[in-house]
Formats: sequence, structure tokens, C-alpha cells
Amino acid sequence: MYLKTILTFIIYFVLNNAIDNQAIAQEYKIKTIVIDAGHGGKDGATHGVYSKEKDVALRTALNLGQALQDSIKDIKVVYTRQTDVFIPLYERINIANNAKADLFISIHLNDMPVRVSRVVDYYKKVKGRSVPVYRTIAAKSTSTKGTETFVSGTGRLGEQDEVIKRENAAMFLEDNYQKNYEGFIANTPENDIMLSLMKQTNRDRSLKFASLLQQEYVSAGRINRGVQEKSLAVLARAAMPAVLTEIGFVSNPDEEDYMNSPEGQKEIVDGIIKAIKNYKRIAETSF
Ligand SMILES: [Zn+2]
Repeated sequence: MYLKTILTFIIYFVLNNAIDNQAIAQEYKIKTIVIDAGHGGKDGATHGVYSKEKDVALRTALNLGQALQDSIKDIKVVYTRQTDVFIPLYERINIANNAKADLFISIHLNDMPVRVSRVVDYYKKVKGRSVPVYRTIAAKSTSTKGTETFVSGTGRLGEQDEVIKRENAAMFLEDNYQKNYEGFIANTPENDIMLSLMKQTNRDRSLKFASLLQQEYVSAGRINRGVQEKSLAVLARAAMPAVLTEIGFVSNPDEEDYMNSPEGQKEIVDGIIKAIKNYKRIAETSF
């Protein structure tokens, strides 16, 4: 019986393997989008001259959610937070996994690291000679600007295994198959192949969405710092395509003003929505 089960699975898998990608594409519809405003509460993260990352990220997230609901019919928007509260990273992605989200967008503001240097503060006379007295200063580069978008780096792809098994494995399986082989499917090599296929698909889709997003920033005249793969805890356990987008540098006074202005907010939100619409069209049909 056990052998027969495996054989059935293998035959099923081989027959379906060729059309797996197509099947995934057909089943993948962007119905639920989780918008994650980075940080919050005790975690204020970075700040500029007058604004904090957590506050601007929240405002952008809420504006984006509202505009999304107004511009895409039947879209369901789920927020990880709508107020100034602290939410652990794993909880953010749990919210998305539990909501069976089709896309996860985490919104952040970028910052330059503080560089510590020693400068001469003044000279004092010691035994008739001028001796410099140093002072330590901490400063950030304020000139760096632009947008960048991250997807989960391959180093953390392993963390997706459990959650993808739990959340997504069923979509590959026929109803009766699932019933028949319940409790058994999780550890077959075939399932591992499907799992890596799923991870690869999510990664491809995350990269696709990230590049569409960067394109929109660029057409709005922003500096393009590109799409990067990074080991980010908030994205590592995502069971769906997921990106973290840095909408600008809060350490750059011009960009701080831009992100805080109604015009800047509108331009950023419009760009993200255009990218979502393009992605939705591509992902639901050919990709
Ligand atoms: Zn951040």
C-alpha cells in the first residue's frame, strides 16, 4: 500500500510537473494584500530633522491602503498595524500568512549610518606649545538619497519551508489526493521538490514586483538604488511574494520634506499602486 501510494504520487507528480508553473499562475490571483508599516511604538527606528520613520511609514501605509481600495475592485487590504504600536517582526509575517495574503509590502524609510570621527576642537598651551584637543563627533551623510526595494535573500529561503508547507502545499494537490495522503505528504522528496518550486516561484514574483516598483519610482524622477536580496527577518517566513521597500532617505533633508508632503505622499502611493496593477496583470496571466 505504501509503495503504491508513492508510485501514485510520482506518476501524479511527473504528469503534472510540466504544467505546474502554468497551474500556479492560473491559481494565483491578487486578492489580499498585506501592508506593513515598519516599526512602531517603542521602535521608532530612524528619524530625520523633524519626523520619525515609524510615523511616516504608517502614514504611507494607511494612504496606500485607502488608495488601493479605491482603485482596485474587490481588493482586500490587511494592515499589520494602523496605530503607533510595537509589533514583533515574526508577528507581522504571521498576520500575512494567516490572512492567506497574495502579496506583502513592508514600508520603510532609509537612513545613513552614523560615522564617528575625531576632529580638533581647540588648541591649548602646554609648556608653551600648542597642543590640539580633540572632540568626537557623530554625523550622518545627508546627501545620500533614492529608493530601494528588498526581497528575501537566498540565505533565508530555508525558513520558508515550514510555513510554505503549511500554507501552500494544498494548492498543488487535488482534493482527493489531499484527503488520501494526509499526514504523509509533508516529508516526501516529491513534496520537497514542489516546495522548492513554490519558493522559487515566490522569489521570482517578489523580484518581479520589486523591479516594477523601482520602475515607478524612477518614472517619478527618483534615484534608483535598485532591487536587492537581503536576509530580512520580516520577509524570511513569508508564504507569498513579499518585498520591503525603502521609500526614501529620512536622513536627506529634501527627501524628508518630500515624504512628509502631501504631494510626495501621493506620488509615492500612486507609484506603488501602478506597480501593483502592473504586477497583478502580469502575475495573473503569464508569469
Ligand atoms: Zn525601517
